[in-house]
Amino acid sequence: MASKRDYYEALGVPRNASPEEIKDAYRKLALQYHPDRNKAPDAEEKFKEMSEAYAVLSDEEKRRQYDMLGHAGFDQRYTTEDIFRGADFEPILRDLGFGLGGLFDFFFGERDFEERASVGRDIVYELHISLEEAAKGAEKEIEIPRIEKCDVCNGTGAAPNTSPRTCPKCKGTGKIQNVSRSGFGMFVRVTPCSACGGKGRIIDTPCPRCRGTGLTEKERQISVRIPAGIDDGYQLRLHGEGETPPGRGSPGDLYVVIHVAPHEYFMRDGDDLMYDLILGFPQAALGAEVSVPTLEGNTNLKIHPGTQPRETVKLKGKGMPRFRGYGRGDLLVRVNIAVPDKLTPHQKTLLEELAMEFEQNVRVKGRKLRF
Ligand SMILES: [Zn+2]
Ligand SMILES: [Zn+2]
Repeated sequence: MASKRDYYEALGVPRNASPEEIKDAYRKLALQYHPDRNKAPDAEEKFKEMSEAYAVLSDEEKRRQYDMLGHAGFDQRYTTEDIFRGADFEPILRDLGFGLGGLFDFFFGERDFEERASVGRDIVYELHISLEEAAKGAEKEIEIPRIEKCDVCNGTGAAPNTSPRTCPKCKGTGKIQNVSRSGFGMFVRVTPCSACGGKGRIIDTPCPRCRGTGLTEKERQISVRIPAGIDDGYQLRLHGEGETPPGRGSPGDLYVVIHVAPHEYFMRDGDDLMYDLILGFPQAALGAEVSVPTLEGNTNLKIHPGTQPRETVKLKGKGMPRFRGYGRGDLLVRVNIAVPDKLTPHQKTLLEELAMEFEQNVRVKGRKLRF
């Protein structure tokens, strides 16, 4: 909307005009600009403008606020509906022989004051599991403190052997329709009932346990099914296992955040597992059969002669089950070569001889090498 004209200006009255002067000014202008009579294209707009000015200046409190705050401040405090509520156009216009003509239809009608369906708060629970549990899936009992329906009063908030009664003011709807007449017709405004706070029910003797709220905090045991193959950081959503909201409404959700503990043998990479196998140089050079761990226990693995450091041996299907899918990832056995840091004299001799055999240059303290 373009910036509004000063209300006094719109009615053509001085700032200290009396209520009678304001009423007279509006009467004169209405006679001139009422769209029933004035068919000029801007007449309707003008009529609305002066009607708004009159609605404000004919109301002692609104006029005082307007004088104090000016247009900008006033508009922040009053909606168009507020401005027109209670204004008495009707007698003036009827006197002049005009109807209301549906001119201000856009101000009327029932506003939707329905409370938004309330939903209880969500709860987040951090659950720590082992890699084996992640692999096999698990059923876990967890204990969470949460707000639930009070079981002393079954959520009604009324003491045992009493029950809430229907609010006589709103007849249980929790809403009050305020109908006010103005010069332009009826305003229907729906507000929460003040007698019952919008609940529709009145509790005379509150439940001693929940003090009438119908809610209590409880430690609740909940069983969580963990699907096989779940990974660190996944969230499981348990619909409706969150907190119960006050009044009507549905409970929130429970989010279980999964933390998979690091494993002593395996590192995880998606559906694959990795295992670092440490071989001695002779094993890698000569080949060997070694025992390696898997999720199902140890298994024998053949190492071919001449296996190199960082070489990977794949055990197909020995990894993690695919989360919500079929089959399993692989177990990747990564070879590392261990170098002994302590040697017996005999081992030393043997290694030196081996080095010479390979014609490698070996320095040994205090001994001459025999080439
Ligand atoms: Zn209770
Ligand atoms: Zn009520």
